[in-house]
Amino acid sequence: MKMKTAFPDISIIGAGVAGLTTALELRIRGANVSIFERNGEIGGNASWQAAGMLAPWCEGESACHRMTAPGLTAIDWWNRALPGLVKRTGTLVVAMPRDADELNRFAARTSNFCQLAMTDIADLEPDLAGRFRSALYFRDEAHLDPRKSMLALYRKLSDMGVQFHFNHDNLYPPGFDLAVDCTGMGFADKNLRAVRGEILLLRTSEVALTRPVRLLHPRFPIYVVPREDHCYLVGATMIESDSTSAISARSAMELLNAAYALHPAFGEAEIVETAAALRPAWPDNLPRVSLSDKTIVINGLYRHGFLLGPEMAKQAATRIFEEF
Ligand SMILES: Cc1cc2nc3c(=O)[nH]c(=O)nc-3n(C[C@H](O)[C@H](O)[C@H](O)COP(=O)(O)OP(=O)(O)OC[C@H]3O[C@@H](n4cnc5c(N)ncnc54)[C@H](O)[C@@H]3O)c2cc1C
Repeated sequence: MKMKTAFPDISIIGAGVAGLTTALELRIRGANVSIFERNGEIGGNASWQAAGMLAPWCEGESACHRMTAPGLTAIDWWNRALPGLVKRTGTLVVAMPRDADELNRFAARTSNFCQLAMTDIADLEPDLAGRFRSALYFRDEAHLDPRKSMLALYRKLSDMGVQFHFNHDNLYPPGFDLAVDCTGMGFADKNLRAVRGEILLLRTSEVALTRPVRLLHPRFPIYVVPREDHCYLVGATMIESDSTSAISARSAMELLNAAYALHPAFGEAEIVETAAALRPAWPDNLPRVSLSDKTIVINGLYRHGFLLGPEMAKQAATRIFEEF
């Protein structure tokens, strides 16, 4: 079926990273776009709680390598869409001396890194001087602040004429040529599962890290991602659960212990925020763009909404303009 008009009216349901990136791709191609979001404002979803790492090589440790190429494109995509918000500082991966095997295992499963000795680590992150004997440095990786990025996308899309409708729970509003469903865990499909992630936001001026640092551990690997205002996001648990309850005491303790192991000054940090969110995942943990008659579904972004969202958005926009 061909679209009746070169400038179709498209509704996007859900204003997470999937909905916002798709809105931009569609608007750039000339579609008239309206976004319908259940919440009263931008945020309150999985995307809001994400760490914002654009780390295709590190993620290759636990995911298939199909994400490397789209992940690379994503760094450029975010940089073009929101100039100045992407930080291309790379990722540092460390392990306590007793967990040296973890570093070897991580190295064996990933690529595009260099090995650092103690002095190199001190050059890169002076606050970690003397704390770790060796590290892996993934210099081509990047990160962004998801909250700042989503708010910036919201402003950009509004300026481009995209209409936002908040507090909207009526799934597919009538009057559009096509709907794009980007509802994350709001999408009803028995194959879609939730992987709960819990995070802490700590504030301290006693530690100065300039890039995401992953601390490997056989049972509880964590990452610490710098944010503005001396804040650090510490995350994240991976729990097969759709519970939306507050972070558990066990998870908070594990995350705090790991942050303390990375740098003892985190022990004095202020806990600014704790949060839990649900990552939407298909059984193979890969995202999908699927089509039915007048609806396109983009879902299953799992751990990689910011890394793979732009690629899914481009795929969806291409299919909309070529196949409908
Ligand atoms: C702790 C944590 C850390 C993460 N870190 C990273 C990272 O470093 N890098 C990375 O790339 N990814 C990361 N992710 C993954 C990323 O956050 C998710 O893949 C992504 O947020 C999924 O985006 P989404 O738009 O599909 O879903 P969501 O962000 O959940 O958005 C879905 C939206 O749809 C709305 N909605 C649902 N139902 C309806 C309805 N009926 N009507 C209207 N609106 C509706 C919801 O309110 C919500 O706003 C992380 C996730 C978590 C939880």
